[in-house]
Amino acid sequence: MRKRVLVTGGAGFLGSHLCEQLLERGNDILCVDNYFTGAKDNIVHLMDNPYFEVMRHDVTFPLYVEVKEIYNMACPASPVHYQFDPVQTTKTSVHGAINMLGLAKRVKAKILQASTSEVYGDPDVHPQTEEYHGNVNTIGPRACYDEGKRCAETLFFDYHRQHKLNIRVARIFNTYGPRMLPNDGRVVSNFIVQALQGKPITVFGDGSQTRSFCYVDDLVRGLIALMDSPDSVTGPINLGNPGEFTILELAEKVIDMTGSRSKIDYHPLPQDDPTQRCPNITKARDHLDWQPVTPLQEGLKKTIAYFDELLRRNS
Ligand code: NAD
Ligand code: UDP
Repeated sequence: MRKRVLVTGGAGFLGSHLCEQLLERGNDILCVDNYFTGAKDNIVHLMDNPYFEVMRHDVTFPLYVEVKEIYNMACPASPVHYQFDPVQTTKTSVHGAINMLGLAKRVKAKILQASTSEVYGDPDVHPQTEEYHGNVNTIGPRACYDEGKRCAETLFFDYHRQHKLNIRVARIFNTYGPRMLPNDGRVVSNFIVQALQGKPITVFGDGSQTRSFCYVDDLVRGLIALMDSPDSVTGPINLGNPGEFTILELAEKVIDMTGSRSKIDYHPLPQDDPTQRCPNITKARDHLDWQPVTPLQEGLKKTIAYFDELLRRNS
């Protein structure tokens, strides 16, 4: 029997890759999305598959369906998009979590939350372990996302303790790859698009802040491994690539790999921009036997090829 799996945010960047991998594994997928940052273009190639079903729905409203597993991915992830309507961002994380947890409780489904390294805020523990409780500004421009995701984690663990729900919480670190939006403001897509168009590369601050970049295929494999892990593995569990790079190093790498003549243009650092971020993935290695296998160079090559084709098609 095929397992019925709900993926909220399934038309987004990570969600669409997740739907793809879950279909390949013989599951029956219900993809739910309100298309705020997702697009039908991301899933159109799956629509001929009879085991792939799409529903336009906003997770801030209750949903009544019958499923065995839920991947709760719905939420804009790029700072530009989650700050566009911050109240809706918090609602998506908090009301969305309540609705999906309520659904999981009613139909006795296993449920996974796409949490984020942003719960660590601007961390003073480095690399970040799951035990670190974070350093988040509750009233800053990133708070709608960070605090929304923190509250969602609280809800997941309270439903687990109070209602014995079978939960999984993944703390996802910066992930990149094909199907990121060219205009979503995230650093990898921004730099690649700017380099391909010969426009200045917009480095915020002096570029010394660090991030760790995980290729999408690796990340999705980690999410599925977490969902399939024994019920004792609730998480929270870090999923990301422990290779750490400064933003300036990333800019130089992208310029080099695209053969671009773009120059670097320095802009002010946005408020509350974390100065360093790198996952400790010991738990994922030990409990899920998971680790990323795609080096940055290889992942960037595939992502550059994707944007190159997209820009040519749209020109
Ligand atoms: P994305 O913006 O591409 O995808 C989010 C999807 O959710 C979109 O399809 C959007 O339309 C949908 N959505 C937003 N609000 C909704 C609502 N109220 N109801 C229904 N659908 C809604 O972002 P992504 O990078 O694919 O991120 C997916 C999830 O992973 C998010 O929850 C995000 O917080 C988390 N995450 C991503 C990263 C990353 O680096 N990509 C890092 C940490 C956490
Ligand atoms: N960044 C940058 N130029 C850009 C976009 C982002 O220098 O055009 C920086 C940003 O300030 C941050 C890092 O790159 O330090 C990662 O930004 P992103 O928005 O991708 O993710 P997040 O800050 O949520 O990790």
